[in-house]
Amino acid sequence: MLDGCTTWPADLAARYVRDGLWRGQDLGGLPRRWAERSGGKTALVHGETRLSYRELADRIDRTAAGFADRGIAPGDRVVVQLPNTPDFVIVVFALFRVGAKPVFSLASHRANEIRHLLSLSGAVAYVVPGVHRGFDHDALAALMLAEVPTLRQVFTTGDAGFTTLSEVDAEPQAPRSNDPSDVAFFLLSGGTTALPKLIPRTHDDYAYQTRAVAEVCGVTADDVYLAALPVEFNFTWGCPGVIGTFGVGGTVVLAADPGAEDSFRLVERERVTFTSLVPTVAHLWLEEREWSTADLSSLRFVQIGGARLQPGLAARIEPELGARLQQVFGMAEGLLSMTRADDDLDAVVHTQGHPISPADEIRIVDENDREVPAGVAGELLTRGPYTLRGYYRADEHNKRAFTADGFYRSGDLASLTAEGRLVIEGRLKDVVIRGGDKVSAGEVEGHLLAHPEVARAAVVPVPDEFLGERIYAFLVHRDDKPALPELKRALHERGLAEFKLPDRVEYVEAFPLTPLGKVDKKVLAAAAADPGLARDWAPVEPKEG
Ligand code: AMP
Repeated sequence: MLDGCTTWPADLAARYVRDGLWRGQDLGGLPRRWAERSGGKTALVHGETRLSYRELADRIDRTAAGFADRGIAPGDRVVVQLPNTPDFVIVVFALFRVGAKPVFSLASHRANEIRHLLSLSGAVAYVVPGVHRGFDHDALAALMLAEVPTLRQVFTTGDAGFTTLSEVDAEPQAPRSNDPSDVAFFLLSGGTTALPKLIPRTHDDYAYQTRAVAEVCGVTADDVYLAALPVEFNFTWGCPGVIGTFGVGGTVVLAADPGAEDSFRLVERERVTFTSLVPTVAHLWLEEREWSTADLSSLRFVQIGGARLQPGLAARIEPELGARLQQVFGMAEGLLSMTRADDDLDAVVHTQGHPISPADEIRIVDENDREVPAGVAGELLTRGPYTLRGYYRADEHNKRAFTADGFYRSGDLASLTAEGRLVIEGRLKDVVIRGGDKVSAGEVEGHLLAHPEVARAAVVPVPDEFLGERIYAFLVHRDDKPALPELKRALHERGLAEFKLPDRVEYVEAFPLTPLGKVDKKVLAAAAADPGLARDWAPVEPKEG
């Protein structure tokens, strides 16, 4: 396995192989196998573009040869930042083919995040979408080339400046194969630390995940999946998502964004049978449905996950969209738990179902790591055949994030029902889940503190009907109290992605403290949610602290 990654213990790995979970599959070899199986069938639809399985595999082979010609070698890390287009799929599989390791950046990432991802991964190349949604990624790439020593090449879907993707094209070479137990690509953590950590996903573990979810969901060659959320999300890419749908010979439709109007048009035009949404987007879809006349009758089921789904919203899905709801609890780190087609309505509305694999191991523990009984909330710990054993190049953090016997500490508060269904009750980790985006409180605080007038900063989630949560910043000022627009501008200039900017800011004289002297974020979160609560926390430290 790539240096800097943690392997599964040999006995467990052997068991996963023996039980037929890990089948020695190389993700880079899959498109050709799919083409042999489904040749002329439509694999991928985007706007007016329709690619058959054979055309897709051919494009991937040529692009892989083009990358190899340009010096991309096995083991190289390549940060990929592309929107929902066929280019994303082609580039990622072409990199798999040459044995390079794509690092999935979010399309919304800016200098701050990209610099970190390039440096942490030691990337030799960066793939960008030219100008996308008004942002000049080529200019950002030029900046990164000057700043990040390992970065040698930029590939762009734009039309000038760097090597364009259309130039990454050569006669296909004899296929090389990857070690299935090695890292295939990197997903990003939902951010409890200031900047995202890299999650190594192996060929075998991801091939298993996508196959297992497709089976749980009963997805077949007749299915048409709408990739409405960003394709670089684990949810969209592999739950079963793009890879799982290809795996059974179905069709993937890429939407530019999850907006309801365009998505409904695509559902009607392509006879989409399932999709995956975050609760915020599901809410938008329900609003649009009230007056839309689009024919959604092809939709069999809608997966909703990534953030807490309010039972009230959950109960509206089937009656209003005419498609079954599947609740999904998932994490890029691995573990996936979901409701099943034959679950009763109560379970579908109120729980996140069962893990997808019989080999998933779950423990719900108290603060002393002792297991708690059913119905009692505790931290969710997990390990299994597609759950990471360590973040990339993060030895110190890994000591805290995993138990001695390899269970991942999710930071989520959960309980199990008497039937063994998972219920997510809340979270221990210091993140705001804004719509589908995970924002580390610590990261935003760090940037706020860089402002000369900010002496102390504490970021908490505040409930929001539309986004689920918004970002609320409590600040202690020095001389002036910069208003929200000024703070946002300052953070923006520091290269922070838009979705991490605070939605509200409130100046206070001091922060409430826990008995141990830490900032009491529970008290702050309650205050953020209720402007009527007193803010009479006594200053115990000088402002300059
Ligand atoms: P990510 O790795 O970005 O997908 O984020 C994973 C985290 O999202 C989990 O650890 C949870 O905190 C949260 N999450 C995912 N699905 C759900 C869900 N169905 N309900 C509540 N929280 C969720």
